[in-house]
Amino acid sequence: AVNARVPLIAGNWKMNLDHLQAIAFVQKLAWSLKDAGHDFTSTEVAVFPPFTDLRSVQTLVAADKLPLAYGGQDVSTQESGAYTGEISAAFLAALECQYVLIGHSERRTLHNETDEVVAAKVTAALKHNLVPIICVGETAADLELHGPSAVPVAQLKAALAGVDNAADIVVAYEPVWAIGSGQAATPDQAEQVAAQLRVTLAEVLGQDVADKTRILYGGSVKGVNIAGFMKEPNVDGALVGGASLDITEFSSIVRFQK
Ligand code: PGA
Repeated sequence: AVNARVPLIAGNWKMNLDHLQAIAFVQKLAWSLKDAGHDFTSTEVAVFPPFTDLRSVQTLVAADKLPLAYGGQDVSTQESGAYTGEISAAFLAALECQYVLIGHSERRTLHNETDEVVAAKVTAALKHNLVPIICVGETAADLELHGPSAVPVAQLKAALAGVDNAADIVVAYEPVWAIGSGQAATPDQAEQVAAQLRVTLAEVLGQDVADKTRILYGGSVKGVNIAGFMKEPNVDGALVGGASLDITEFSSIVRFQK
């Protein structure tokens, strides 16, 4: 298949690294990738720091013209107003975020984010020209009861409720049982679900959008297993948690083809 999709390797820092640590980390990461001769146009690199780091990351990326993308780990469904603790899509856009993670399993589980909330966040992000990285994935119980693709496909359909076929989106398939467990899916398992997610994109948004939308795999991705995932025709990158906090490890994931 003709594949014009630029691979994306995204690092989800979760609640790790304060703004001072973020500055040192992003600087080192960019230098280490540049030293290794990484071509940022052939594989895009993005980091997802805590909200309190984003202003520092923006300043550094702008000052040093670093070829790194970045974004928030979550966003509010609301535009502005009396929503204590929330961060709007407009605020993220004002910090020149290109992306935002939406519906990560930790948000769904620990903060009771429903499919409706996820859909509202996707709409809010698109309204401010942020590219939502829509996270979907089945739990171990879902896998046993419904097989691998039913829940991720249903979650994606629900998340696309307010999306039109001009939208730029990314989908991240993250089986919940693979996140932080050291037990990654096999490349074949990831490909099976990614292929179903692409069929869903085609059904809802049309074949053109399905063909150009990147689908990432996430869940215990490391330097040693990334190449297997990237060989699959429907896997266009990775969403990396734990291994994104180690410069050497994350660099080896970014430079998977080497
Ligand atoms: P992990 O996390 O790489 O530590 O498994 C992935 C994620 O939660 O996005």
